Amino acid sequence: MALQGGFIEHIHALDRLGIPSFEIRQKADLENKPLDGLILPGGESTTIGKLLRELDLFEPLRQRIQKGTPVFGTCAGLILLSKEIANDSNQYLSAIDITAQRNAFGRQLGSFHTIAPFAGVGEIPMTFIRAPFIAKAAEGVEILAEVQNRVVAARQGSILVTAFHPELTEDLSVHQYFLDLC
Ligand code: GLN
Repeated sequence: MALQGGFIEHIHALDRLGIPSFEIRQKADLENKPLDGLILPGGESTTIGKLLRELDLFEPLRQRIQKGTPVFGTCAGLILLSKEIANDSNQYLSAIDITAQRNAFGRQLGSFHTIAPFAGVGEIPMTFIRAPFIAKAAEGVEILAEVQNRVVAARQGSILVTAFHPELTEDLSVHQYFLDLC
């Protein structure tokens, strides 16, 4: 989804894995081209949410997710896919049964880098930029990673979310994890 934020980095990660991709910028892109999976990048969730509505992409996207298209949301993408946002009255795609807390790691820790385990993958580098965390997750949501005792990655069915940005590191294992879901 190439409306705002860090979509180029995801395209580069897919390129490095040899996976063809295309940018969705308007409704026709979503409707006319076949796709096996979709990435909602980091950026500003309020802006992306607003653009999705303005460009008439919101409803077709919501329906596509409901029908089972695998989706990977990073950071703002996680917020957009959450059922609930603890500190924001907005609600967007409600695709994964979690409560997101926006800008949750505090001012000093607004951006930071760490290495932590990701379930089934091992230790990976994680870059956080004004990141949310997952404050609550319903039963049936698989917790995939925790940093500072906060849940930062989860999966429910074919919806994958990370509070961090795997596309900003050399490590391709989270993208590979998503490709396996696809
Ligand atoms: N703080 C942003 C938001 O609330 C997310 C930051 C990011 O995607 N890097 O939407």
